[in-house]
Amino acid sequence: NRRVVLAARPRGLPTSRDFRLEEAAVPTPKEGEVLLRTLYLSLDPYMRNVMEEIGPVYAPSVPLDAPMPGGTVNRVVASRNPRFRTGELVLGNAGWQDYALSDGQDLVPLGEMAQPSQALGGLGMPGFTAHVGLLDIGQPKPGETVVVAAATGAVGSAVGQIAKLKGARVVGIAGGADKCRYAVEELGFDVCLDRRDSRLAERLAAACPKGIDVYFENVGGDVFDAVLPLLNVGARVPVCGVIAHYNEQTPPPGPNRLPLWMSTVLQKRIRVQGFVILDHYGERFDAFRREMGQWVDAGRVKLREDRADGLENAPSAFIGLLEGRNFGKLVVRVADE
Ligand code: NDP
Repeated sequence: NRRVVLAARPRGLPTSRDFRLEEAAVPTPKEGEVLLRTLYLSLDPYMRNVMEEIGPVYAPSVPLDAPMPGGTVNRVVASRNPRFRTGELVLGNAGWQDYALSDGQDLVPLGEMAQPSQALGGLGMPGFTAHVGLLDIGQPKPGETVVVAAATGAVGSAVGQIAKLKGARVVGIAGGADKCRYAVEELGFDVCLDRRDSRLAERLAAACPKGIDVYFENVGGDVFDAVLPLLNVGARVPVCGVIAHYNEQTPPPGPNRLPLWMSTVLQKRIRVQGFVILDHYGERFDAFRREMGQWVDAGRVKLREDRADGLENAPSAFIGLLEGRNFGKLVVRVADE
């Protein structure tokens, strides 16, 4: 039973020395428990936050020497819980390890899925995040302009495609020409700009001649600075993530943009709302799964996966996610289906 534990708290961008691959005994299920074999592990930006000593309020910090947490697709390999049978595929939270125990409370049966790893991406948490953040908070209307960065990633690609289905004009921002071409040609975005372009602010203004009605905030940083002057009166800003800041050790250099931001919020009557997807599972997840599943089956939403191979490669793949090296939803194939 291999597992990847947190070896040290990162300073800035994590390095391979912050993780350690260990061998542990395969655990034995007690009455009521199941033994899970991990097939796919999801790698997500929030994992950077839980490596800190004090994690975000919505997710506990990982203790040193404990396995890294994470959403997984698992096969039940032994069951002492009548709700699950051996051989069944489930969505679980086994973390960065080959085997884990569960009492079943956190498991979702996956049934027969054509591509089970999609339950970690567009048909799972990140897709649900896009759906709730865009439709409940962003509320795009036909003809409005929606801007989203990390545009080819797990959340951003779903945000842009759902916004197109709702009749909006979609401007993406992504890292590099290949991602931008994919966003326009495959995902159907109207425009996609390179976030590293030194003239991003100018190009974004040209791409949004009628201003921005919905800015789905995934990144912060330079993208936010370019978006701020373009927000329209009545704009909505679902705040989903600020990945450009996750590795920061100190506040970014000035000038202090807070007065400009607050006066913009006031003068433009902007609605800014943060959300954490964990809060929404009870009410909406099944409805999301049905709708997104239909869109994907009909080819109206495309899902792209970026696969790393082998648990031992999870740390380097995760570091790559924080640098924009992933192209699509990042998952690790831990074992054969
Ligand atoms: P992605 O698949 O989009 O991967 C992360 C991407 O972020 C990278 O590929 C890169 O894209 C971009 N990125 C990385 N570093 C920077 C940087 N310094 N500046 C700008 N962009 C950067 O990940 P997810 O779709 O899983 O997550 C997207 C966002 O959504 C994150 O902020 C995450 O924390 C948030 N999130 C929030 C949830 C919630 O409940 N609120 C739930 C799930 C996700 P590129 O190179 O193309 O720019």
